[in-house]
Amino acid sequence: MDTKVLLGEKQIPTHWYNVIPDLPGPLAPVLHPGTLKPLTPQDLAPLFPAPLVEQEMSTERWIPIPEPVREIYRLWRPTPLYRARRLEQALGTPARIYYKYEGVSPAGSHKPNSAVPQAYYNKLAGIRRLATETGAGQWGSSLALACQMFGLACTVYMVKVSYQQKPYRKSMMQLWGAQVFASPSAETEAGRAALAADPGNPGSLGLAISEAVEDALAHEDTHYALGSVLNHVLLHQTVVGLEAKEQLRAAGDYPDVVLACHGGGSNFGGLALPFVADRAAGRQVRLVACEPSSCPTLTKGVYAFDYGDTARMAPIVKMYTLGHDFMPPGIHAGGLRYHGASPLVSQLLAAGQLEARAFPQRPCFEAAVTFARTEGIVPAPESSHAIRGAIEEAERAREEGRERVILFGLSGHGQLDMAAYDAYLSGRLDDFHYPEEKLRASLERLPKISL
Ligand SMILES: *Cc1c(COP(=O)(O)O)cnc(C)c1O
Repeated sequence: MDTKVLLGEKQIPTHWYNVIPDLPGPLAPVLHPGTLKPLTPQDLAPLFPAPLVEQEMSTERWIPIPEPVREIYRLWRPTPLYRARRLEQALGTPARIYYKYEGVSPAGSHKPNSAVPQAYYNKLAGIRRLATETGAGQWGSSLALACQMFGLACTVYMVKVSYQQKPYRKSMMQLWGAQVFASPSAETEAGRAALAADPGNPGSLGLAISEAVEDALAHEDTHYALGSVLNHVLLHQTVVGLEAKEQLRAAGDYPDVVLACHGGGSNFGGLALPFVADRAAGRQVRLVACEPSSCPTLTKGVYAFDYGDTARMAPIVKMYTLGHDFMPPGIHAGGLRYHGASPLVSQLLAAGQLEARAFPQRPCFEAAVTFARTEGIVPAPESSHAIRGAIEEAERAREEGRERVILFGLSGHGQLDMAAYDAYLSGRLDDFHYPEEKLRASLERLPKISL
């Protein structure tokens, strides 16, 4: 077969796949952080437009992708599926390795797949501005791009350390017309309180979420947008897995194992959820989420109700969690530093439909370098976790002397992550150990919910 399988623009999926009807049980309720009572659609109305709230709970298996969204998807979709022949040769494996590459989007990752429909539905609802938070900057730049496409204003609260360390992500957001504040900022009560307590506060994702939510709630014409975790975000990302299935079919193959990195779950869910439907229909395919061992939500966390954010303003959901105030070490894969996980991924993992594996950052960078030296593409540090997982599968196939078809998600490129590669190549990159003591302490602070 060819090195890459390309589909035409007409083959962009017409529908997103909703896994909710194929879940092994009913969806767990989402609770109000104040009352601890189940959340109603009205509770979400000040933050999200109605179609996104509906998608959050929909039991329709297929949800049509609006034509204006497909129109923008056309700028980079369908994304290529590659056969990693040179990597296979370097590993001397009988496995066939495929990867689905999302780094061809303008923002350089999978995140615009959800930013674009989120901006579209908000525009349709008469909203004029979206407020959001960003850590490493990948979500903020994706939302800035999407808002620009639909003529919406965009305000991004960017964690202060990232704002200082990743100036080019900030420039990208500004280039696409967004207003960017280093968080904590003087723009919100939450930010001013944090600055009053400590003018040198470096910021955190939890605090930036609090600022963005406060901004959205304080302005009638402004909504909030979240880049991962929520059901509607995973739904939008299923274009990735749907295309990959089509491309593998064209190549005459079907995977034995599918791997993707997992932070909040939208990248993993986007690639893997369409294969859950196949499992339900009796097909054998393993689905493996790859996470950092310093933030081991799926492999060391507990499946319990917890707050979505550090400030306890976000809803309480049932998910794998390390505790809402767990502060992961400052690894370079910034997009994987989240204490919780998508409720959909969590429910499927708890039911034994998925597997999870954790990898330390150095072996991931080593895998990323092997990949860059064989396949050419410089991977995002987040994506390197899936590459590590795929390489281990390929090595096992070699040891067992049998064929295996491996599909992994290359969620983005790493061309704005050169400081991380520089640290690795000059031997300054550390492996953080899994912080067992801190984890035990944060798990003791889970909300006590009895349902
Ligand atoms: C944000 C990001 C991730 C993690 O995404 P989740 O969907 O939250 O798991 C992975 N890879 C890249 C390139 C990212 O930007």
